[in-house]
Amino acid sequence: MKITVVGSGIIGLTTAISLQKVGFQVAIITKELYNNTLSSIVGAIWFPYSVEPIQKANQWAATAFHHYEAEVGKAEGVSMLPFKVLSVPGQDNSWVDHLPKENITKSSEDLPLGYNEAITAMVPLIEPPLYLPYLVELFTQNGGTIKQLTITSLEELKALNNVVVNCTGLGAKEICNDEHLFAMRGQILQAEKLDHDPIVSQAVKGELSYLINRSQDSIIGGTDYDHDYNLNPEEADTNLIIDRIKKLGVTSEIKLKNILVGLRPKRYSIRCEQDEKQANIYHNYGHGGAGFTVAWGCAEHIATLINKSLDKH
Ligand SMILES: Cc1cc2nc3c(=O)[nH]c(=O)nc-3n(C[C@H](O)[C@H](O)[C@H](O)COP(=O)(O)OP(=O)(O)OC[C@H]3O[C@@H](n4cnc5c(N)ncnc54)[C@H](O)[C@@H]3O)c2cc1C
Repeated sequence: MKITVVGSGIIGLTTAISLQKVGFQVAIITKELYNNTLSSIVGAIWFPYSVEPIQKANQWAATAFHHYEAEVGKAEGVSMLPFKVLSVPGQDNSWVDHLPKENITKSSEDLPLGYNEAITAMVPLIEPPLYLPYLVELFTQNGGTIKQLTITSLEELKALNNVVVNCTGLGAKEICNDEHLFAMRGQILQAEKLDHDPIVSQAVKGELSYLINRSQDSIIGGTDYDHDYNLNPEEADTNLIIDRIKKLGVTSEIKLKNILVGLRPKRYSIRCEQDEKQANIYHNYGHGGAGFTVAWGCAEHIATLINKSLDKH
């Protein structure tokens, strides 16, 4: 049986491959190809940042964690690295409970002012410029096809096939007329690789700060502005990002290579379900700041839902 997946970001590709794994033939329809999506420009580190509802997200993230861990040395662009998460009293660190205990160390010494704990976890780093082409190759080797087309309404989506999965990220706002979905603007800096351990502080809204070291560069973030659709890099944000990362103790010279801006598809709850009215449509969008972190968990959930629903008929 043939299923159509709409979207070729991290969510569309992992969904398409998970459906192939349970035996479906899959065609991807997409406005932009994978290398021109939000997913192609971000970090990406495994970390459940700004994603709801947190309990479900933690479970999906745990599934994805094990998937990536098993891919190290086999897939392009996946490695494990120690990520230090700075925490303030009362901060929700429930993600830790879903990771293997041996992956975690905690410390309360030598912290920047205002923090009470540092949790260092071995987590997956997924490098989109390497990992997304790897997924596309896997998908096409399994018989998948990709065609460029823009969908503008739920009716158009419905008419695509007997089963359609909507993985259009922020594009779902228009297609589904979804008032709960909005942009959370993120500006990040791509810099020459820094000699400092990866670190994040997400304690206070509006003060997100992190450093991720990749194979060829470092990514320094970032901003988290809700309902902001501005795709232009802003100098004021660049200065803020540099000031904040210095306050976390990253004092080496930052040599900028590029300034990138992306709009996180933020929703009060990831929409990973069958449509209530159009039974042939399934949705998988609204992953906020954690699309890579939860991707394989959500993709497997949708594949299971579809498999079970078709079994009944
Ligand atoms: C600055 C920044 C840093 C981030 N860092 C991380 C990180 O370190 N770790 C992490 O896990 N997450 C991170 N994220 C979040 C992550 O990037 C997103 O959650 C994820 O990319 C969303 O993936 P997606 O496939 O849903 O969307 P997208 O990558 O936007 O893909 C959507 C796809 O749908 C297609 N589409 C859209 N509209 C239509 C339409 N009308 N018709 C047909 N096709 C359509 C698009 O062309 C595209 O192919 C970050 C985000 C930002 C902004």
